[in-house]
Amino acid sequence: MLNKYPIVAIATAPGRGGVGIIRISGPQLGPFAYALLKQDLKPRRAHYCVFPDSHGEPIDQGIAIFFSAPHSYTGEDVLELQGHGGPAVMQTLLKQCLHVGSAFGLRMADPGEFTLRAFLNDKIDLAQAEAIADLIDASSETAARAAMSSFSGHFSKKINALSESIIQLRMMVEATLDFPEEEIEFLEKYQARERLNKIQENLNLVLKQSKQGLVLREGLHVVLAGEPNVGKSSLLNALSGEDLAIVTDIAGTTRDKVTQLIHIQGVPITIVDTAGLRDTTDKIESIGIERSWAEISKADVVLNLKDATKSNLAIDEKIAFHRSPKSTLLTVFNKADLLKTIPPSGEDVIYISAKTGNGLELLIDRLLYLAGWQPGQESPWLARQRHIDALESASHHLKLAEMHAQQDDRVLDLFAEELRLAHDFLGTITGQMSPDDLLGQIFSRFCIGK
Ligand code: GDP
Ligand code: ZN
Repeated sequence: MLNKYPIVAIATAPGRGGVGIIRISGPQLGPFAYALLKQDLKPRRAHYCVFPDSHGEPIDQGIAIFFSAPHSYTGEDVLELQGHGGPAVMQTLLKQCLHVGSAFGLRMADPGEFTLRAFLNDKIDLAQAEAIADLIDASSETAARAAMSSFSGHFSKKINALSESIIQLRMMVEATLDFPEEEIEFLEKYQARERLNKIQENLNLVLKQSKQGLVLREGLHVVLAGEPNVGKSSLLNALSGEDLAIVTDIAGTTRDKVTQLIHIQGVPITIVDTAGLRDTTDKIESIGIERSWAEISKADVVLNLKDATKSNLAIDEKIAFHRSPKSTLLTVFNKADLLKTIPPSGEDVIYISAKTGNGLELLIDRLLYLAGWQPGQESPWLARQRHIDALESASHHLKLAEMHAQQDDRVLDLFAEELRLAHDFLGTITGQMSPDDLLGQIFSRFCIGK
């Protein structure tokens, strides 16, 4: 057993709720459970109990469930107390657990520590642990389903299959390395190049799908920029289908930003409506405009919204100056309904009417494209940037291996070394190769009680 001491936390969200759950995990919790509840608990049975304080007075009554190791979330003994979900009840119950548990070394859990223990006890791998956090954080049904798919191990299975095929190739190479006279024939004899190409093919497919999964997790950050009255708030409303922003025809109404999270095909898109950009002597308005520039500098996509019936080029330069070079700039001409003829839209210039909805579909397609989303290709799992980085590094080392295999003086040990590196990078995804600081980074971002 890796952890000597038990941990405790309130597992349910803070605040009021119908039910509140306290969770305790540790090796051999039986004696603690008896000391706390004064009754024996059968594993995996719901026991109706009174939760007493130190004087035997009831704090609350509810359900206690005991999961004995290894058949629990953490792989250790787990005790769950389900009481009434008021903050005072939960805090009192938690205090009582810590009081009784002091004799057993019980302490408060760190964020993510239950899941960390599940990982350390081999109940789940690292990608699955991350999926649990992503499932809790999921902002759309699509993202939640994809996180659930990762959690059930679909992504890990793909990674393990890739690792397995690299291991097989490595075993052949390493065996040959001991017999230098066979090196030359090795590649032909074992069809090493064909095997390598097959692995590369599979890895590229996983990478492509993971990139879709990353889009689902990260989404796109869009900022609406432009002069007052060009229709920024109207566009936000049209896109979100809600009357969230104030729409009026008095210039300078949107004095502060309004942020809306919308989902298109499951992709989370944050849209920020900013204060209209113009020279002003109004103090409050100019603060709003300062914030607009700050927002513009943080955007993935800056929509430079313009009134199609007027032209002001001065603003374009300012926007170009403030936006990050990593962002994409789209020029969107609004109020196209007021034009006699609407010019054709291009990749970076789009004509729309927030009022009639004309051109919005094109704009949305463009945003999805910029997010990296491939419409119609449903994402089988949720992925994180570190997964993409690891897959790309693995792919890079497979390419180097391929290069070594093609050279005339085929240096088998270099070939073997690149395979090993590719394998190691895949191992970081599932946690077979994970430095402690990476674990710290991943688990510290969990909520407490998970
Ligand atoms: P903002 O200051 O950029 O946020 O602009 P608003 O969204 O508040 O819109 C300013 C004015 O333009 C309002 O009177 C809107 O009704 C009008 N407007 C917005 N979009 C369109 C459009 O596509 N066509 C027409 N004809 N009027 C629009
Ligand atoms: Zn506005």
